[in-house]
Amino acid sequence: MGITIAQEMVVTPHPDDAEYGVAGTVARWIGEGKDVVYVVCTNGDKGTSNANMQPEALARIREEEQTAAARSLGVREVIFLRHPDQGLEDTPEFRKELVRFIRIYKPETVATADPYRRYVWHRDHRITGQVTLDAVFPYARDHLSYPGLVKEGLHPHMVREILLWGSEDVNYRIDITKTFNLKLNALRCHKSQVGHIPPQELEEWLRERHREMAKGEDFQLAEAFHRVEIWQ
Ligand SMILES: [Zn+2]
Repeated sequence: MGITIAQEMVVTPHPDDAEYGVAGTVARWIGEGKDVVYVVCTNGDKGTSNANMQPEALARIREEEQTAAARSLGVREVIFLRHPDQGLEDTPEFRKELVRFIRIYKPETVATADPYRRYVWHRDHRITGQVTLDAVFPYARDHLSYPGLVKEGLHPHMVREILLWGSEDVNYRIDITKTFNLKLNALRCHKSQVGHIPPQELEEWLRERHREMAKGEDFQLAEAFHRVEIWQ
């Protein structure tokens, strides 16, 4: 195995959520010389309103779109876990998968969906967020949580901070004014999801969304998170 350390990890429920949630920040990180890895939990095979689209074909398309989006941002690696869309569960197996990748890449920051958004929130988002939080703490941290992983050479790792997108309790905003266009281009790679929206309309909608998130800051466009610092 070569060098596998990445400073930042994004755990995304579906192909495209990372682009909506954190791509402007990802572009910033990469601009600062950091390595970023994506973990994509589900295959996104329910994400269509086209009744003629077959799930297998959609999963393939969405994987290609996610790969293109990540490549456009300069993400180093994209890992596809390929759980069924709308079928993600909080299982020991899923948790262990995330622990494994946290221990392989040793990220300082992990970004994912906030599981504590109330009422209407995609079940896969809720479960991804919750299992990611559990994987970070305490499971990735403790020697005895997965003795088998330690035997494979995957030793405990302490993530420094967690950024949760889609949060109702925002306490942290990152300036994406300079990386907004990279985010927009990455989002546009998800043609099966946004291809029907006129380009100008998508840009204006996205710009307004991130202007709104930057309210009260001295910069124009932001991505907003609930940030949890685990250690300083
Ligand atoms: Zn999603």
